[in-house]
Amino acid sequence: MIDAHLHLQDPRLFSDADAIVATCQELGISRHIVNGTSPDDWPTVLTLAERYPDFISPSLGLHPWRVNEAPSDWHTTLTDLISHPAVVGIGEIGLDKWIRDHDLPKQKEALRAQLDLAIAHTLPVTLHCLQAWGHLLEILESTPAIHGRFLLHSYGGPAEMIPPFVELGAYFSVSGHSLHPRKRTHLEIVLAELPADRLLLETDAPDMALPDDLNAHGKSEINHPANLRVIHEQIAQMLGQNLATFIAQTRQNTEALFGIASLNRFAAFPPKR
Ligand SMILES: [Zn+2]
Repeated sequence: MIDAHLHLQDPRLFSDADAIVATCQELGISRHIVNGTSPDDWPTVLTLAERYPDFISPSLGLHPWRVNEAPSDWHTTLTDLISHPAVVGIGEIGLDKWIRDHDLPKQKEALRAQLDLAIAHTLPVTLHCLQAWGHLLEILESTPAIHGRFLLHSYGGPAEMIPPFVELGAYFSVSGHSLHPRKRTHLEIVLAELPADRLLLETDAPDMALPDDLNAHGKSEINHPANLRVIHEQIAQMLGQNLATFIAQTRQNTEALFGIASLNRFAAFPPKR
């Protein structure tokens, strides 16, 4: 299994990183796509990638929540850091009209600049979006070079917007948060709409906690990355699929988006016929 999106650099997890990585590996989790959110945490993400080179793949980006406070040279810093050979993507970036004091024009400007950066460096992007789906679709439609190279992480948008995003080659990731009873109906609709080759799974740890009865690891207020296993089990069950087949499919989708198949060549993977 590959965790398509989490924040191991978060202080709630970072000090425990050795134990977390060991627990994840015991459960068959072979890689983490760790997302940075601002110049403050990008160096820590790269430190983790250097500490666990066979396990952590970093993605760096300026999160819409961090746009207002970002130093004026953030773009130069980001351009510099993504030249690190371990970097597999730009993210977490996006649009958010839910957060208080949001500045949508400023968020859009940062998003467009980072999409351009991703295109120039042939990297995929991981997108966060809350209450700004129309704006996001419009920007993506006008940026054809990123089509087929973007992930809508923790997809919470309307069901009717899935087909237009799929049309642009979107990948979608689902977290354990969507297993909460009040979110299940939305999740069922998303799963029914999505083509099998576009679904990725993530924990978004330490946030987006699972319902308490499914939270197999850690404390209820902190989502432990090892919960990726339970998320796979639950979603495979909802789709009526064999767990091993489902894991192979989501893994293949994650490898395809981030271009990391060769990094995992020594890991167990069913041979293709
Ligand atoms: Zn996140």
